[in-house]
Amino acid sequence: MEWVFDGGRPCLDLVNTLRDRYQAEGTELLTSPEALTEWLSLAGLIEGRVRATEEDLETAKWLREAVNRLVTTQPARQDVELVNKIVEEPLPHARLRLAGGELHKAARTPRNPVAAAFALIAIDVIELVTSPVDVRVCAAEDCGLRFADASPRRTRQWCSMSRCGNRAKARAHYARTRG
Ligand SMILES: [Zn+2]
Repeated sequence: MEWVFDGGRPCLDLVNTLRDRYQAEGTELLTSPEALTEWLSLAGLIEGRVRATEEDLETAKWLREAVNRLVTTQPARQDVELVNKIVEEPLPHARLRLAGGELHKAARTPRNPVAAAFALIAIDVIELVTSPVDVRVCAAEDCGLRFADASPRRTRQWCSMSRCGNRAKARAHYARTRG
């Protein structure tokens, strides 16, 4: 199974690394620190030679499930506390430097780039759950992907047209033409 980045938000893309949530167990895509490194890199949250560890993998899964509960069920205090703990990590930031009369940007590498990436995801979930954007579960019975519905009338049904929308249309067409 491939990574999907159709959630519309980094925090939902993280939730979607456990695919097939319509099933009890789901399909785990974060199977190793290497897999997490790849996901973080493709999500644009880390760069270069940063590598996630086993411990990071555990944290990613804790954060992921907390995000999933926060966007799909009644909010629980422990999930709020986890997000607040993760968001305390210092973020990557730039500093302004004046040299030879010119301004330069000097990037500051965060002390722990993976933890900083998790903090960015935590910020994203804080923004999401306190905004009017709806989080939906894809309408396909065999999907379960979560996405942010920012469509004007909040009527988006599918995680993506190419993955589930067209399949549903084809099924409906088949059902109609059969009578
Ligand atoms: Zn779908």
